[in-house]
Amino acid sequence: MSFKDIRGQDRAIAILKNAARQDRLSHAYIFWGPEGVGKKMTALNFAKMLNCQDARDEEPCEECASCKKINSFNHPDVFLFSPDKEGSSVGIEKIRALIKDIGLKPYEAKKKIYIVDNAQALTREAANAFLKTLEEPPTDALLILIAPELRDLLPTIVSRSQAVKFYALGVNETARILVKEHKIDEPQAKALAHLSSGRMGVALKYKEGDFLKKRNRIVDSLARNEFFDSDFDAVSKPELKAYLDIALTWYRDILITKASGADAVFGLVNIDKSDAIIKEAKRLKFSRIEEIIKQIILTGSFLDSNANPKLTIAVLGLAALENAR
Ligand SMILES: [Zn+2]
Repeated sequence: MSFKDIRGQDRAIAILKNAARQDRLSHAYIFWGPEGVGKKMTALNFAKMLNCQDARDEEPCEECASCKKINSFNHPDVFLFSPDKEGSSVGIEKIRALIKDIGLKPYEAKKKIYIVDNAQALTREAANAFLKTLEEPPTDALLILIAPELRDLLPTIVSRSQAVKFYALGVNETARILVKEHKIDEPQAKALAHLSSGRMGVALKYKEGDFLKKRNRIVDSLARNEFFDSDFDAVSKPELKAYLDIALTWYRDILITKASGADAVFGLVNIDKSDAIIKEAKRLKFSRIEEIIKQIILTGSFLDSNANPKLTIAVLGLAALENAR
């Protein structure tokens, strides 16, 4: 996997290549932007580029020992610190190990590379420890912090690093690539592109998993006015979030259809389910659709604020059922 496989991040990649070409690398970078747009992939390719034994035009060769080791997460001088659990942070022990290690000479690399994922979730203790390293950065090491938003990081960390912004690819472009390069039929590609908010990495993750099957089951049950038929004891918070996102697209589609008053509607997320959407748009009143949407958004914010997921969902289920009648 090389720079060419990363879509929509030409600007970010050009910044990094230029810095390397002109020998003006920063000792610390912050790659920031939405989830699933290629920040981690770019960081790993940057590590490959800087250490490749046969790089041409700032493209890693993918063939040398260094490239191969990085591709298999096996390089003694390239470190990827990820949280143990999705949504949690890299622990202070790992950051302490990083700080201890960063002063040592590389084993074999030209530059040691430390990639810290979910940097926004570092504890204050860990962030402060980090800051000390940034104040006196070692010359043969390079740090890459990955975060969704700059404002979630300590200002003192941001001011000592070079921020590189990453963007979502966009819904239309994501759908086009899914059809052309991943051989997905158009209605499903459009649904995936919308449900991932135009983030290629997320769309591909959805495609790999049984996401579409799950989505079908959820919207089919919503179409029958049955909310939350799943066993919610068994699902994680991110899964519940995804469930709410799907429910939200469903009712927004119904709202758009009702507002347009037409039998065929363009721009629906769940375009492959337009028959059921039109039927529901005819059946439900405006005020009810709006109320359900409000409840779903509210439930999402409860989940964000760490409320008990199961309880939150149960409350939504009752409210929504009441409103759907
Ligand atoms: Zn190479």
